[in-house]
Amino acid sequence: MKTDVIVLGAGVIGLGAALNIQSKGRSVTLIDRGEPGRETSFGNAGIIERASIYPYAFPRAAGELFRYALNGTPEAYYHVNALPRVANFLVRYWWHSAPSRHQIARDGALPLIQNSLSEHEKLVKEAGAHNLLKRMGWIKLFRNDEKFREAINDVEELKTYGLSFDILSPDQLAAREPDLKERVAGAIHYKDPANISDPGALSLAYAALFERKGGVFLHGDARTLSQGPEGWTVQTEKGPVTARDVVVALGPWGQDLAEAFGYKLPMAVKRGYHMHYKPQGHAVLHHTILDTDNGYVLAPMDKGVRLTTGAEFALRDAPPTDVPLSRTEPYAKKLFPLGERLDEKPWMGSRPCTPDMLPIVGPAPRHKGLWFDFGHAHHGLTHAAACGRLIAEMIVGETPFADPTPYAVTRF
Ligand SMILES: Cc1cc2nc3c(=O)[nH]c(=O)nc-3n(C[C@H](O)[C@H](O)[C@H](O)COP(=O)(O)OP(=O)(O)OC[C@H]3O[C@@H](n4cnc5c(N)ncnc54)[C@H](O)[C@@H]3O)c2cc1C
Repeated sequence: MKTDVIVLGAGVIGLGAALNIQSKGRSVTLIDRGEPGRETSFGNAGIIERASIYPYAFPRAAGELFRYALNGTPEAYYHVNALPRVANFLVRYWWHSAPSRHQIARDGALPLIQNSLSEHEKLVKEAGAHNLLKRMGWIKLFRNDEKFREAINDVEELKTYGLSFDILSPDQLAAREPDLKERVAGAIHYKDPANISDPGALSLAYAALFERKGGVFLHGDARTLSQGPEGWTVQTEKGPVTARDVVVALGPWGQDLAEAFGYKLPMAVKRGYHMHYKPQGHAVLHHTILDTDNGYVLAPMDKGVRLTTGAEFALRDAPPTDVPLSRTEPYAKKLFPLGERLDEKPWMGSRPCTPDMLPIVGPAPRHKGLWFDFGHAHHGLTHAAACGRLIAEMIVGETPFADPTPYAVTRF
């Protein structure tokens, strides 16, 4: 079977790429070992983070580092036995998080953030998935007066990017979220981000759109990828598929395939968990809420209130643990009247992270026709549609809407 482009990985990133390449008139075959959007893209907090001008940095203050080193916080947990393997990543992540370098990450990610929602909106419209896209923004809570004051200072910068927010007193917060049980120092409501009320369903809607427009979805193992005189070939359930170009959009597994072709990348994963809850009585959560002190998010989803945890630094394939959720759940229950758990067991996913907080998007320099699109960390849902446009423009030889230099794999 021949096609113009193979996209490996049908998570939200692969789907964003496949749809955009298809819209350039290229035939596309999308290949995954499982069903579309069932891995990392299934379980996130659903925020299209239009206001996330700064990527998530590694803590720099000595007190904070000491607190994390003790390994008892709800927001971050590390596996001691994983440290030798992730130490290189952590040191480089810490280095890139210094204020001046963090600004480089901000500038690099900016075009993807600025176009995140508008590009998703185009796909959502075509896919007829309006029911999944809500526009309520999200709210960040602060319990500590001083931290709240600092955040009020910092948030002013968003105005220079044309973004809007409300600073909420405890009473104003209570008016927006009457069922919160705790009275906090204050909150910031970021109003530009949008929310997906079922991220797995969004991937399925994108996959259905892709097939409706003539795209082919096949099961196959990306690790069978090989290069020959006619291009790139992957073995699938329907036999070999060959194309001139192949996009590796394997999320946390992207690094493995890159390594098989000789590209060693300093990546690691931040694992995260989710659980859905039925609210008690008639309680309603109206907005997605980030509890900054404890590093978890509560998001109103179609299935119930989704609690997503902070970062677990572990080897990607190590068995799931119950530590992040068991540390977080009591705080979440104190904040909002969460009732019974709605999932049999916690869901776990792995955010694929680079130390400089920017994704890897663009050509593999030593292999003609091999393209990378992974490492989207905390913002894969956010980046998916804009990044899909970027890689599509690069593959067909158009001038990309953003300078792709910050995402080049050659930076490592
Ligand atoms: C708890 C949590 C909360 C998050 N919240 C947000 C949020 O609110 N907003 C946001 O923007 N981002 C969020 N993220 C990050 C976001 O979910 C990820 O960045 C994004 O889903 C990555 O998408 P992906 O398509 O690259 O990877 P994936 O969704 O993991 O897709 C990779 C695909 O590759 C396939 N695959 C792997 N190996 C093979 C193989 N050998 N052969 C064939 N196929 C293979 C898999 O089956 C999978 O379908 C969150 C992540 C977590 C864990």
